[in-house]
Amino acid sequence: MRHMLILGGGTAGTIMANKLASALDESDWQITVVDGTEEHYYQPGFLFVPFGIYRMRDIVRPRRQYLPGRARLILSSIDHIDPQKKSVTLSGGELLRYDVLIIATGTDIHPEQVEGLFDEEWQRSKFDFYTARGADRLGQFLKGWQGGRLVVSIAEMPIKCPVAPLEFLFLADAWFTERGMRDKVDLHLVTPLSGAFTKPVASRALADFLERKGISVTPDFGLARVDNEGRKLVGWDETEVPYDVLVSIPTNMGDACIARSSMGDELNFVRTDRHTLAAESMEDVFVIGDASNLPTSKAGSVAHFQSEVLFENILEHIEGRPPCAHFDGHANCFIESGFGKGLLIDFNYDTEPLPGEFPLPGVGPFKLLGESAINHYGKLMFRWVYWNLLLRGMDLPIEAEMSMAGKRVIA
Ligand SMILES: Cc1cc2nc3c(=O)[nH]c(=O)nc-3n(C[C@H](O)[C@H](O)[C@H](O)COP(=O)(O)OP(=O)(O)OC[C@H]3O[C@@H](n4cnc5c(N)ncnc54)[C@H](O)[C@@H]3O)c2cc1C
Repeated sequence: MRHMLILGGGTAGTIMANKLASALDESDWQITVVDGTEEHYYQPGFLFVPFGIYRMRDIVRPRRQYLPGRARLILSSIDHIDPQKKSVTLSGGELLRYDVLIIATGTDIHPEQVEGLFDEEWQRSKFDFYTARGADRLGQFLKGWQGGRLVVSIAEMPIKCPVAPLEFLFLADAWFTERGMRDKVDLHLVTPLSGAFTKPVASRALADFLERKGISVTPDFGLARVDNEGRKLVGWDETEVPYDVLVSIPTNMGDACIARSSMGDELNFVRTDRHTLAAESMEDVFVIGDASNLPTSKAGSVAHFQSEVLFENILEHIEGRPPCAHFDGHANCFIESGFGKGLLIDFNYDTEPLPGEFPLPGVGPFKLLGESAINHYGKLMFRWVYWNLLLRGMDLPIEAEMSMAGKRVIA
C-alpha cells in the first residue's frame, strides 16, 4: 500500500482528497487527511457574521462530511514533518509515513505578534473577523455600539483574502446607514500598502469607492504597537492613529509545524515552486493553498485553481514523469460593496485586475472592477458552490488558467 498524506483538511486539503480519491486505485493507495479540528468553516462567511447576514450555523459543517468515504481522517495536531525520513509526527507522538505529501495547513492570525494587541481588551474593544469567535464577538459588540471612530487596521502583508478588510468597511458603511447612525460613525482604514489594494489599477478603483462612501485611509502605515490607554495605533515612525473600536487583521502566519520542520520563510510559509507547486528542495512534497509562499492572493479560489494543476502534477509524479501542468497565479474574488452590490476581480502573477466583463466578453454577466447587483449574487452563490461543488473537487466553469477574454487593458 502506498500513502498519500494530506496535512490540513480545509479548503485545499479537502479538494485534493476528493480529486485524488476518484483517480487513485483504492487497492494501491491509502489517502489520509490530518486536521486538528472537527469543524470545517466556510471562511468567506466570517465577513457577513458581524452584520447578522449569516449566523454561525450557516457557515460551519462537519469536516468528515466533505471528505471522500475512502479517506482516513485523523483528528490531531501536526507536530512536524521530516522530509528525509518521509514521515510526519503528530502531537501525540504517532508517526505517519508517506510516499507523497501534500501540505495544506493554511494560515491563521497571530495578534500576539503586535505589541499591545493581544491582551485583556482583545475581543472587547479590539476585534478580528478572521476567526469564527472573532466574527461572532464583533457582531455582538456592534449591535450595542453607539458610534464613534471604527478603525480597520492591517498589521502587515500578506493576509488571507486581501480585499476582505475593504469589504468589511463597505458593509459597515451600508449597515450603519441602514440603522440610521452612519453620521455617528467615522470609518477609517489603516494599511501598510501605499493604497487600497496590492495592484495599481484595482487600487485606484477601490480608493474611489472608499472616498465615495466617506471612508478615510491612512496608507504606508507600519504598525509598531497598540497603545491601549491612549486607544491609538502607533507606527514605527511614531505617527499615531486614534480609534474607539479597532477591527484588526493581525499578522497572518503559516502553521508552527512548518517552523518546527524548518521548511518555511520568516512567516512560516512553505517555499514553493510558483508553477509546479512542488515544495522547494524536498522530494515528494507539494504545497497548496494559503500555506505556500507564492506571490498570489491567499484565497479559496486560488486553492481551487491550484488543485487542478496539482492534481495533474501529482499523477505525473506518481508515474515518474516531470510535472506538466503550470500554475499562473490565477485569483478570482468577488468584493462585496454594500447595498446589495459587489465587484469582481480576476488576475494572475503577471496581469493585474483589469476592468471588463467576466467570463464572456461584452456579455458578462459579471462586471470586472465595476459594481453590479449580479456580482453581489455571485458572492452569495459562492457559499452554495463551495459546499456542493468546489470542496467535492468538481470541475467549475472557470479555467484554472486566467483568460484575457473580456478584459480591457488600460495604461
Ligand atoms: C474573512 C475572510 C474572508 C474570505 N473571503 C474569501 C473570498 O471571498 N473568496 C475566496 O476565494 N477566499 C476567501 N477567503 C480565504 C479562504 O477562506 C482561504 O484562502 C482558504 O480557506 C484557504 O484554504 P487552505 O486549505 O489553504 O486553508 P484552510 O482552509 O484554512 O485549511 C487549513 C487547515 O489546516 C489545519 N491545520 C493547520 N495547522 C495544523 C496543525 N498543526 N495540525 C492539524 N491541523 C492543522 C487547520 O485546522 C485547517 O483546517 C476568506 C478568508 C477570510 C478569513
